[in-house]
Amino acid sequence: MNSICIFCQRDHTDTTIEHIIPRSLGNIHYILPKGKVCNKCNHRFSKYENQVLSSPAFMEERRRLKILNASNQQIGPPMKLASKNNFLLKMAYEAIYKSRPKLLDQYDLEPVREHLVSGKVLSFLDNQKLGPIQTQKSIPKWLQAFRLKNGKMKLEYLETVDQRLFVQFQMGRLMMRTRLA
Ligand SMILES: [Zn+2]
Repeated sequence: MNSICIFCQRDHTDTTIEHIIPRSLGNIHYILPKGKVCNKCNHRFSKYENQVLSSPAFMEERRRLKILNASNQQIGPPMKLASKNNFLLKMAYEAIYKSRPKLLDQYDLEPVREHLVSGKVLSFLDNQKLGPIQTQKSIPKWLQAFRLKNGKMKLEYLETVDQRLFVQFQMGRLMMRTRLA
């Protein structure tokens, strides 16, 4: 069966299930339906994911929360800023697609999608200053948010009073944030 990838928007027949928050962090329920992300895009994202997840800060937190099994406890290379941002952007784009589609009407997330597909530079990457917040909400709703909370994780969106959109991911004591629009 053919599906359209939500990132590159191409027709494809891949049936991989996409984990919005990485599976290796213990997430098994917050996923996209089969085929929503093609294998080519998925492969591109796994590079950022592996970089971030194997960084010392993440490794330490995974160990502290006992998410990691003993055989897997090596320390990875330092986390690159670009990887960290892409890691967040990809997670946010999928989560919004699944749980908060109204945000796609309210904000222009096309630049984020294009950035993730073709590396096109985001004009606001340098301007990450948060400022006064109007809304701070979990992107996943109800049971999905509850399950993540059980895994000591939180994925939220923040709207500032001047109409900018941010995503914030927390895992234990780790917190990461980036601008989406
Ligand atoms: Zn794709």
